[in-house]
Amino acid sequence: MCGIVGYTGPRPVLPLLIGGLRKLEYRGYDSAGVALQTGVELVVAKAVGRLSCLEERVAGIPGDGFLAGMGHTRWATHGRPSDINAHPHGDCRGRFAVAHNGIIENYRSLRERLRGSGHHFSSETDTEVIPHLIEEAYRGDLASAVRSVAGLLRGSFALVAMAASEPGLLVAVRKDSPLIVGLGDGENFLASDIPAILEYTKSCYILDDGELVVADQRCVEVQDLTGRVRHKPVFQVPWDVAVAERGGYPHFMLKEIHEQPQAVRETLRDRIKEGELALDEFGLDGDAARALRRLHLVGCGTAYHACLVGKYLIEKLARLAVEVDLASEFRYRDPMVETGSLLVAVSQSGETADTLAALREGKRQGARTVAISNVMGSSITREAGSVFYTRAGLEQAVASTKAYVTQLVALMLLAVDLGAKRGTVPEAERAELIEAIQKLPELAEEVLKLAPAIDNLARQVAQWEDAFFIGRGLDYAVALEGQLKLKEISYIHAEAYAAGELKHGTLALIVERIPVIALATQPPVLDKMISNITEVRARGGRIIAVCSNEEELAPYADDLILLPACHPLLMPVLAVMPLQLLAYYAAVHLGCDVDKPRNLAKSVTVE
Ligand code: GLU
Repeated sequence: MCGIVGYTGPRPVLPLLIGGLRKLEYRGYDSAGVALQTGVELVVAKAVGRLSCLEERVAGIPGDGFLAGMGHTRWATHGRPSDINAHPHGDCRGRFAVAHNGIIENYRSLRERLRGSGHHFSSETDTEVIPHLIEEAYRGDLASAVRSVAGLLRGSFALVAMAASEPGLLVAVRKDSPLIVGLGDGENFLASDIPAILEYTKSCYILDDGELVVADQRCVEVQDLTGRVRHKPVFQVPWDVAVAERGGYPHFMLKEIHEQPQAVRETLRDRIKEGELALDEFGLDGDAARALRRLHLVGCGTAYHACLVGKYLIEKLARLAVEVDLASEFRYRDPMVETGSLLVAVSQSGETADTLAALREGKRQGARTVAISNVMGSSITREAGSVFYTRAGLEQAVASTKAYVTQLVALMLLAVDLGAKRGTVPEAERAELIEAIQKLPELAEEVLKLAPAIDNLARQVAQWEDAFFIGRGLDYAVALEGQLKLKEISYIHAEAYAAGELKHGTLALIVERIPVIALATQPPVLDKMISNITEVRARGGRIIAVCSNEEELAPYADDLILLPACHPLLMPVLAVMPLQLLAYYAAVHLGCDVDKPRNLAKSVTVE
């Protein structure tokens, strides 16, 4: 997730680019930069930190006198946030500039080859291969150079390129990352999202994958990757800036729920190659994985719930004892971390104070440490031995959704990786799991189609005063996250119970019409779950079942939320989504401030 703005036309370019980037700040970034075209050369300026740092850096550059330019706000994925790693990037002689959003999966091999033929690299980014490839391919026509380079890149990209020798020209191409073209009169714009251009035009092209744009101030041409011209419909933006920031969604939370398939896709990107896991981020080779005696998973709130899913998966697949702790408890309970332990600290922001303290405690006691975080360069990632980055992009809504599912994916990858290295997952099962993991984004898209039906159901939920969420095994871990979502944003009291625990007390609270959301996605405990559901029904409770097996559950449920078939161990990724939607719509029907629920902060950097 980052911001790209491109402009070609007569307006003062520099202030326009910075203004555009400011409109994209909501997407999150750690550094920023601009490249400006004088007609003879390219002027590049970049700075780590906020846009104000870039503004200080460009203070000496005149605002106008440029023919075209591009700006970029970076959300680092490869290489820490720094001045040098900020975009735009250039080739060896400063003749080309490129701003890129996404991940180039094959950058290592491309960089080796380019180095071999004498190219000099100045950053740690995956992106920098692109301008060098353009330099190699350039024969006086930027569009055809970018076209041939796009064919060499694997991964995701929205990229904009300029050449010093082609004044006023911008060339852009996209695959799996957003890019739009703003159509003006005697000027044209490129951007990763609509808010950046809305001040100037409401007419745009929304580019599709595999489309390349050649734009100067007079004309815009969209082509496919063979150079054939494509005629695109002009999209007239019906939104104001605030709605456009939310991609047309009424709240960031709903936008982020719908971004989950893409967040999972990005988190998997370049981590599975030819059906095998390609993971060095956990810092464990075969010997280290086999030598592990115990694993500690620590987190707070939603991340803690992700850890509970991780425990089931790691114990099952890697046959390794896992302890899960709330970070705030771990740090003060004088925990025992025996030699040969691995401590995995899970935190979206990487700044959660309790999780950081738990990580330090683990290190103090001699454990290996791994951070799972969404923010490159955050405190936890700097202090952990190894880091796995989830790639959910900036999460704005206080109630976590896409960060949670990417944490689940990270822990799933860790479990399969450990299982493979420790020899506890048979070859065939590993292949089956890896294949199933790759299907998750598509299945998630299917689940999100349930949104209108869940909105309907949520009208009833909004009337509830209490709710229970029950499940067994992985479903119990998801039930905990589901009840937290409901409480966080709709303020309806909710509790999650391991379904087998009901009769040890809670059943006393199940009376006529009490709503119980029953998760029943786990075949090994399905019969047991059905027994628990009947216990609830016998007391008049109202069952909403979340399952993938209609025939088995329909006779027992007042309402059924039907998930697509999926490997049972991966079900949490799908099963949580209807619960997020249920909480969201209930909160909306109750008139709650969904994105900023009362008393909660996004990143808890105090104890
Ligand atoms: N992968 C690129 C980098 O780390 C681009 C990141 C982005 O999308 O901002 O520089």
